[in-house]
Amino acid sequence: MTAAAPLLTPIIGTLHALQVPIPYPMKTVTVLIDTGGSQSPITMIDTALDTPEARQAIEDGLSELGLHWPDIERVIITHHHPDHYGLAGVIEERSGASVFMLDVEIGRGERYWHMWEDWLPGHIKHMQDHGLPPELLATLEADSRRGRTRVQPAARVQPLREGQHVTLAGREWEVLWLPGHADGHLGLWNETDSILIAGDAILPRISPNIGLYAYTRPDPLGDYLQTLGKLEALNPRLAVVGHHGPVMDGVQARARQLRAHHHERLDFIRAEATAEPRTAYGLSLAMFNRDLNTSGRRFALAETLAHAEHLRLLGQLARTWQDGGWVYHG
Ligand SMILES: [Zn+2]
Ligand SMILES: [Zn+2]
Repeated sequence: MTAAAPLLTPIIGTLHALQVPIPYPMKTVTVLIDTGGSQSPITMIDTALDTPEARQAIEDGLSELGLHWPDIERVIITHHHPDHYGLAGVIEERSGASVFMLDVEIGRGERYWHMWEDWLPGHIKHMQDHGLPPELLATLEADSRRGRTRVQPAARVQPLREGQHVTLAGREWEVLWLPGHADGHLGLWNETDSILIAGDAILPRISPNIGLYAYTRPDPLGDYLQTLGKLEALNPRLAVVGHHGPVMDGVQARARQLRAHHHERLDFIRAEATAEPRTAYGLSLAMFNRDLNTSGRRFALAETLAHAEHLRLLGQLARTWQDGGWVYHG
């Protein structure tokens, strides 16, 4: 496969998926564009990271659909991660579009970008308390600052609520809450055509990162296991996904596979921590026993920690403060 994947994929009716380049291993993020009609406003779902390449790709996609930035009337964001939210503020400014997110995400992930300077020390301390070594802590602040420059949060974000309906491509879609990968991750579900707009709640090829950070809900893995149950029960014919898509089928089977994957990891962490008490970072070296760059190591720590804390909340592991860090043990 080369980078020759089509830029625009028709999804249903006036809804199209655009593949926008991002400087992450996933290479692209899916941005949805609904060219609108008598009942639906011209809508963009997710916005990519703010880079010149992404701006250009979106501009090209819009113009292929006969649109320009100022035409966008509504922006819906699946979750606050930079690769989905980065350009929201720019689009809001250029078009006057209303920006929407799930209410849960506005109070948490979205707020994070506005409180960023105040929250950064807590983020760093959290990583340190869970064993991130000095050489990786040293680059954390600089990397975080670089990432922050690629996110232009919207000045005003309006809430969507779980169970509410929105019109998109002339159809009704139910707003879903799919927490785990992000606290307030939103999905849009069209029952008639059995299509789910899933963001990063489920992905083919990679397991969505389920990380415990300083400002996330206390048990993101517990949240995610419930989300997988929800997705399995929905059993959509088709899902539009944030990466490695733009669409995938077999969501039910993939949800089962991901659940099995997390249960395997839980078994592994329980056994490792019981055999040899360690920090979450120490456990992450065993769970992700391969070469990772510094940001990969931090994702690995957050993911391992989500598993260790899930076990602790179930009463299957305990943790003790030792030498300036939390040590997990049986
Ligand atoms: Zn994400
Ligand atoms: Zn993503």
